[in-house]
Amino acid sequence: MRDVVVIGGGLSGLAACYELEKRGIPYTLIEVKDRLGGSIHSRVDKGFVTDGCAFAFAPIEDAALLRSLGLQGASFDFAPGHTGFRAGSGALVDAMSSRLTGGKLLRMAVSSIGRWKGRYTLCLENGMVLDAGAVIVAAPARYAQRMLYNLAPEISSRLRDYQYDSIIRVSLGYHKDDLPNARPRPFSAIFPFVSATDADGRVPDGDHMLLQVGARSQAGIDPDQVLAAVVDHYGGGRDPVMWRVGHWAEADPLSCYDDCHCENMAAIQASLPAGLGLIGSDYCLEPPQRAGIARLDERLRQGQDAARNAIVYLRGKQRR
Ligand SMILES: Cc1cc2nc3c(=O)[nH]c(=O)nc-3n(C[C@H](O)[C@H](O)[C@H](O)COP(=O)(O)OP(=O)(O)OC[C@H]3O[C@@H](n4cnc5c(N)ncnc54)[C@H](O)[C@@H]3O)c2cc1C
Repeated sequence: MRDVVVIGGGLSGLAACYELEKRGIPYTLIEVKDRLGGSIHSRVDKGFVTDGCAFAFAPIEDAALLRSLGLQGASFDFAPGHTGFRAGSGALVDAMSSRLTGGKLLRMAVSSIGRWKGRYTLCLENGMVLDAGAVIVAAPARYAQRMLYNLAPEISSRLRDYQYDSIIRVSLGYHKDDLPNARPRPFSAIFPFVSATDADGRVPDGDHMLLQVGARSQAGIDPDQVLAAVVDHYGGGRDPVMWRVGHWAEADPLSCYDDCHCENMAAIQASLPAGLGLIGSDYCLEPPQRAGIARLDERLRQGQDAARNAIVYLRGKQRR
C-alpha cells in the first residue's frame, strides 16, 4: 500500500518526494508529461546553456540541501539578489530526480481525488485507480481545481477563478563583438527582466554573451514579435548565434493577484482535508508581487513542509 502519492513532478513535487525519500517513506510520483521538472526546462544550444523559463532566482539558503544534492558551488550571480545554476535550473531537477527511488508514473494524469474507507483514492485519466494514505497535489490551480471538484468543492471553486499571465522567455547568444549593448536594461513595461552573462559554463567561451529576457503580458502575445523586438533592441538588429523562445501561455498568475489572494489562499489551506497538501507556485500565501517572483527556494520549502506534514498525519493515523 502506498503511503503518499505526489501529483506533479515540477520543483515543488520533486522537493516533496526528495524529503519523503530521505525519511524512508514509501511514495509514488505521478506526472502527466514524459519528463520531470514542470516549468523548469534547461538545455544546451550551440554551447549556451538556456532555460525555457525559470533561470534567475533568489539564492537558495539551504546549504545542507544543496550539499546533499552535490550542488554546492554550482551557482553564480546574475545580478545582486539573483542567482542561477551554471548548468541551468534543470541542474536542481536532475540532482533531485536522480536520487528518487520511489515509484514514478510518467505520462499519467490524475483526474480526480476521492476518499474511501479512510484512504484517498485517485482516478487517473487512463482509468487506473490508486489509493494512498496521504496525497500531495503539486500541480497548478487550473488542474488541481478539477482533481478536487468532488472531494473539496469549495476549494475547487476558489481555484477555478484563477487567471494566468503569459510569459515569454527569450534567450539570445551573441558574439560579444556583435552585441552593442553589453549591459542591457528593460526597455518596456512588458519586459521587466533582462540579464546578460558570460559566466563560465553558461556560454561557449569568453567571447560570447548570453542574454535572457522575460516578457510578461496578457494571453495572446505573439512570441515571434517579441523575439523580433528583443533582437532589434538589444542586438541592434544583428542576428544572434543562438536563440530560443519559450512561450508559456499560462504561466504564473501574477498581474491578476490582488488583496483577495492572501485571503483565498489562507482559506484554502485552512479547509484542506487532513492528509492532503496543496503546494506550488500558485498557492503561496504571500502574492509573488509582494514576496518576490524569483523564489525557487520557496518551492523547495513548500515541498519539504508538505512531506513532513504528510508524515505527521500518517503517524497520527497509525496511533489511532
Ligand atoms: C515562463 C516562466 C518563467 C519563470 N521564471 C522564473 C524565474 O526566472 N525565477 C524563478 O524563481 N521562478 C520562475 N518561474 C516560476 C518557477 O518556474 C516556478 O516557481 C517553479 O518551477 C514551479 O514549480 P511547481 O512545482 O510549483 O509547478 P510546475 O513546474 O508547473 O509543475 C507542476 C507539474 O504538475 C504536472 N501536472 C499538472 N497536472 C497534472 C495532473 N493532472 N496529473 C499529474 N501531473 C500533473 C505538470 O505537468 C507539471 O510537471 C517561472 C515560471 C514560468 C512559467
